[in-house]
Amino acid sequence: MILAAEPEPNRRWHATVVLLLVMAVLSACTRPQPYLALQGRTMGTTYHIRYQGSAATPAPEALQQRVDARLQAINRSMSTYQADSTISAFNQAPPGTQVPIDTDFAQVLALSQQVHQASNGAFDPGVGSLVNLWGFGWPKPTQPLTQPPTPAAIAAARGHFGQLPAPQDGHLHKPAPMRLDFSAIAKGYGVDAVAEVLREQGVQNYMVEIGGEVATRGQGPQGERWRIGIEAPGTAPGEKTVLLRLHLGEAALATSGNYRNFVEIGGIRYTHIIDPATGYPVREPPLSVSVLAPSAAWADAWATAFMVLDEEQGLALAEKQGLAVYWVYGTADAPRMRHSSKMVSYLEAAEVAKFDK
Ligand code: ADP
Ligand code: MG
Repeated sequence: MILAAEPEPNRRWHATVVLLLVMAVLSACTRPQPYLALQGRTMGTTYHIRYQGSAATPAPEALQQRVDARLQAINRSMSTYQADSTISAFNQAPPGTQVPIDTDFAQVLALSQQVHQASNGAFDPGVGSLVNLWGFGWPKPTQPLTQPPTPAAIAAARGHFGQLPAPQDGHLHKPAPMRLDFSAIAKGYGVDAVAEVLREQGVQNYMVEIGGEVATRGQGPQGERWRIGIEAPGTAPGEKTVLLRLHLGEAALATSGNYRNFVEIGGIRYTHIIDPATGYPVREPPLSVSVLAPSAAWADAWATAFMVLDEEQGLALAEKQGLAVYWVYGTADAPRMRHSSKMVSYLEAAEVAKFDK
């Protein structure tokens, strides 16, 4: 059985990678309690949940209501295409003002500040104005760009995320002109939040996926650890080509990809990942980066950071931080894989032999 999240190409929170849930096939074990599936839409993409129901868990409709309410609250906090969200209020506020923020916003901000620092600024939610300038923002530009923005425009759009202070008394001071963009962490945060709802409702075994970011806990329907497949770069929307499978157990996996979300300006392709150090889209980023971590928000943010960092810097930082990372470089026809040492234990032996030379 396969569950797939189909990304919607033109929406703001775009899924770059479709993850397939691959069930283990070798198990004779029968489970007394059935596994149930929930699915819906959020953050401009889809979500899928697979979980084992029990006498202690609410009816699926009731559980889904709780999940949807939680996701709506997160969207009210950090969706840049909701005009009345907390993030929109911050982005519209003049510099020098105090903006009221909610607890989800404060948590994502704190996580973002940690990853920003630890990634030497590669992960930077202060790139919002640059994202808009390069034509990736919301709303989309009415006319496609015919030439890249000027250096002066790029300089003026640079963010100052490092200058943001810690919030105080539920307020965040806006020190300088800045548009925040949590797109590179919000889906992961949503996955963690939904997983928390499930645990609170007594669910022990689950898989939660939003737009390609996944968290699992316990066992899948065949009584084995959950196995998650990473899509091969270059796979067309709707196709399902699995690059490799990971044993997840209790963990989260996020993938940032470059092969589906880009703009073409004057015949040149630009990725949607901005290098905060230059204000330009990253040149020759990996085709995809997958990060495995205890939290999906953490994995999501780091996957984006590794799109910015170059190959050697990225590998060195992954080793220093003890992160499980899997990179795909090269082209879709001739991919070249690398992984950090922490990733080894999650890879299936056969997959390692096949892909890593
Ligand atoms: P996706 O959202 O497509 O799954 P990511 O998690 O990598 O992929 O998020 C990419 C989005 O994050 C971009 O579309 C943009 O809105 C924003 N972004 C771009 N560059 C950066 C960066 N260096 N740090 C943080 N966010 C970024
Ligand atoms: Mg990300």
